[in-house]
Amino acid sequence: MAAAPRDLRGHIPSVDRLLRTPRVQELLGSYNRAFVVGEIRAVLDELRHVPEGVTGTEAARVDPRGAEGASPDSHLPRDANAHAATAEDGVLDRLEERIRRASAPRLRRVVNASGVILHTNLGRALLAPEAIEQVTEAAGHAVGLEYDLPRGARGDRDSIIEADLMALTGAEAAAVVNNNAAAVLIALNALAEGREVLVSRGELIEIGGSFRIPEIMAKSGARLHEVGTTNRTHVEDYRAAIGPQTGLLLKVHTSNYRIVGFTASVTLDDLVDLGRAHGLPVMEDLGSGALVDLTEYGLPREPVVRDQVARGADVVTFSGDKLLGGPQAGILVGKRAVIERIRRNPLRRAMRPGKLDIAALEGTLRLYRRSPDLACALPTLRWLTRPIADMEAVGRAAVLLLVERLGSGFEISLVSSESEVGSGALPGTCLPTCALAISHAEHSPDEIARRFRAAEPPVIGRVSGGTFLLDLRGIFAAEELAVRFP
Ligand SMILES: *Cc1c(COP(=O)(O)O)cnc(C)c1O
Repeated sequence: MAAAPRDLRGHIPSVDRLLRTPRVQELLGSYNRAFVVGEIRAVLDELRHVPEGVTGTEAARVDPRGAEGASPDSHLPRDANAHAATAEDGVLDRLEERIRRASAPRLRRVVNASGVILHTNLGRALLAPEAIEQVTEAAGHAVGLEYDLPRGARGDRDSIIEADLMALTGAEAAAVVNNNAAAVLIALNALAEGREVLVSRGELIEIGGSFRIPEIMAKSGARLHEVGTTNRTHVEDYRAAIGPQTGLLLKVHTSNYRIVGFTASVTLDDLVDLGRAHGLPVMEDLGSGALVDLTEYGLPREPVVRDQVARGADVVTFSGDKLLGGPQAGILVGKRAVIERIRRNPLRRAMRPGKLDIAALEGTLRLYRRSPDLACALPTLRWLTRPIADMEAVGRAAVLLLVERLGSGFEISLVSSESEVGSGALPGTCLPTCALAISHAEHSPDEIARRFRAAEPPVIGRVSGGTFLLDLRGIFAAEELAVRFP
């Protein structure tokens, strides 16, 4: 343990002296000199600015090694040497600890026991091993990202994923950008800059606080023309709003809320008919957009991209890392002429995904096309379709493991609960799940949650109904909860 700060004051060694010590020499084998010197300076600085009020006796209590040094000017020269050595050790302890902390990655692995399967703040979908393999390959090698190998000439990165997306959605063409927000922005700009876009008042969504249809519309240079009311919009509302300024009819999937009660909304089929009659393109922002029919897996219905394409939408946009279960990406599929127009838009260069994302997306799409058992191959689908009995078995093993690690006073029990899909997929539907309820007579649920977040690796649970829960839907083996508590 590092000597208490106050204790080291008055014996602060010089940077040069520390650099000559064997312990720092060893550090210089792993870290560059400028970094180590910077960290030494920072430690010495900290020691020089120990707040007043940390008394000598407190310091002595924290670290018995420094007890004699409580009053720095009262000791004999002989003690001074011994004391300087102790101080130096203390400084080196602090330095090593500081370097260890500063060198750990900021993007840390965490255990997602939150019960939110596609948690935006935890990075949404996990990639399938096949996709990860492809990312690793692309990361360490040159790849034909925009290179037409047979011709030996420049190609287009969309061509890597286009055939798979066409096959999976039935669309004539496909393009990829960084995320779905970007897909919506570029489509609006390419198709309706300077013109009006008709949107139902019931579909002016906000996603995750920063994606709002009216704001994206404003940034795209298109003008929002709201039609209908919050709860009811009819095809007549759109028809009445069409004028010489109209450039696009937009439908937005209300992916994170549901309007219930006395409601009416216009189907995509009706919008497509209206668009055709007036020579206007029709776009649907599906948000999540499933590539497969989730009801086949016993899950609630979520719009399937292929169906919306078949209904005649000119362009459909959706995310790569929501229900699709791939990397962060925004996918645009639709009519070839429309997709080409979007591709030629200058914003595309500012929104193009990197080779790692293209590799991950290709690997994921390949599973959709070729895997004999998608529910097993794709982590997102595996989470969604996980049998309760499986979670219970993991939960029972995890109880034993946690009882041992948490120490006395904690009560752990297996309870039924509900998981959310998250990220605006399957809104309003919760999946029955199994969780560990963890409580302690002297610690609040929030304190327990903090303790789990401080573990290595950190565990993210949730507090529900006044209890701290670890949702087991995302925990496939009890060992994943074999974390170290501080
Ligand atoms: C999630 C979502 C977005 C934003 O997609 P990102 O991939 O997070 O950029 C846009 N529209 C809808 C309807 C969504 O559900």
